[in-house]
Amino acid sequence: MTLHIHTPLIESRPLSLAAGCNVWLKLDALQPCGSFKLRGVGHACEVHQARGAKQFISSSGGNAGLAVAYAGRKLGVPVTVVVPETTTDRAKQLLRLEDAKVVVHGSSWQEANALAQTLIGPDDAFIHPFDDPLLWTGHASLIDEVAEAGVKPDAVVLSVGGGGLLSGVVEGLQRNGWGEVPVLAVETNGAASLHAAMQAGHSVELERIASVATSLGAKRVANQALICAQQHPVHSHLVSDRATLEACERFLLDHRLLVEPACGAALALAYAPGALAQYQSVLVVVCGGATATLEQIKAWLQQAD
Ligand SMILES: *Cc1c(COP(=O)(O)O)cnc(C)c1O
Repeated sequence: MTLHIHTPLIESRPLSLAAGCNVWLKLDALQPCGSFKLRGVGHACEVHQARGAKQFISSSGGNAGLAVAYAGRKLGVPVTVVVPETTTDRAKQLLRLEDAKVVVHGSSWQEANALAQTLIGPDDAFIHPFDDPLLWTGHASLIDEVAEAGVKPDAVVLSVGGGGLLSGVVEGLQRNGWGEVPVLAVETNGAASLHAAMQAGHSVELERIASVATSLGAKRVANQALICAQQHPVHSHLVSDRATLEACERFLLDHRLLVEPACGAALALAYAPGALAQYQSVLVVVCGGATATLEQIKAWLQQAD
């Protein structure tokens, strides 16, 4: 038994018509805590528990923290999540619903994370949101499930924040003998840390994040993400916040699933006319996300450019 579930893999008629090729959706929005994060986080938490961890600590007020909280509750291990003051009430409420202890500290993630580091006792495990080989190995199960289903895509579309999902999907492609299948790595214009790193040829830190896709807001990607881009065919794509939000709305109508803008970014590429026309069959990772409401998405759309 794993903490994550095997998610449905469906062919999307609306997206296939929009994209002009067969679009397969891996519906990780249906993971019990709302995002793919549970794959890697669940695996990491199980490994740390087997090594004797007595507490899990996270500094993510987003889907990574939620996945740690869920995993801890399921494994019977207490969880502390340190979040900055900017974290929404909704996010804090979701964490408390999973019985996590929520500590609010500092005005930025850096400050919250610094406090979290001081709380790590000798028997505790800190669970990083994207930069840990245990996470990538867990995320790779997503591709194992697609291979088991007998569906081999010509390309995989996914969103990139810190690059944990990218690293895991590339690991999954490689371990299933699909090393030639390209990954289309999508970021919003205001959170394009992988794009910047690929252009520079080394990891770079963005000065600031300016995007509604908060779950993609890592200023610097994991080194492994850049290594993946150098050792595997990875193509960087950028989309606007507006296209991202419109994709969220359209996907809700098409498939009755509400996802965060972080996931809307990957969907926006599939909805963009012609963007996938060179492929016959594309897998889109519907990574999900639990922190956005429809009201918030509509409000953002009013102001988006
Ligand atoms: C974390 C997250 C991402 C980005 O994943 P990384 O591993 O940080 O690249 C994308 N979408 C959602 C919904 C997320 O929670």
